[in-house]
Amino acid sequence: MKLTKRQEEIVQIVKEDGPITGEQIAEKLKLTRATLRPDLAILTMAGSLEARPRVGYFFNKDKERPFQPTEILNLKVNDYKGHPIVVQKSSSVYDAIVQMFLEDVGTLYAVTSEGGLAGVISRKDLLRASIGNKNLEYLPVSVIMTRMPNIITVKPEEKLIQAARKLITNKIDSLPVVRELNSNPDLYEVIGRITKTTITKVFLEIAEQKFV
Ligand code: ADP
Repeated sequence: MKLTKRQEEIVQIVKEDGPITGEQIAEKLKLTRATLRPDLAILTMAGSLEARPRVGYFFNKDKERPFQPTEILNLKVNDYKGHPIVVQKSSSVYDAIVQMFLEDVGTLYAVTSEGGLAGVISRKDLLRASIGNKNLEYLPVSVIMTRMPNIITVKPEEKLIQAARKLITNKIDSLPVVRELNSNPDLYEVIGRITKTTITKVFLEIAEQKFV
């Protein structure tokens, strides 16, 4: 159950000042007791609050705490990144297609021989390259990939919400998680990936576990 703003305020007050009577909560929110009654009933039924006659409302610590919308804003890319699948940029389109099937991913990252991020290869990039092209074994992915500096990346310390925004704004399925290579700050090492599936999983996790 997603709490309304007022219900969140009530829970907060009870957490801080409980046990507290309905009358006192109403006073703090500058509302009447009658206005609050449905919210208090909902919160008590959901188990977020407990009510005891003559004592008042108190916070049920045993029950999972209510989901705070701010929590989602603080999730970090580093804690959710997945394993990146990389190929050498000299690899053939044929090998990239095989790799994509073997690893069951939708996007591959191409790297230079020094390990720096060079390109992104999506499913449609490979389909496009395959149309009317018979020599996929001899066509390097470097010819068909989206190249640096046009790659949208994300850093491990960035917020997950920022990654989600980049995916939607740029209409892409995945973001390489990168950090600068010490040897050459113009080169990025790929240390992970964030995909639309990553974001969908987090959404489900929150919906199934954290809402009261
Ligand atoms: P698909 O092409 O399979 O629909 P995407 O929507 O992810 O998959 O890719 C669309 C295009 O954007 C492709 O040409 C791909 O190379 C490019 N692309 C994918 N991810 C990125 C990224 N992180 N940065 C820049 N370009 C990307």
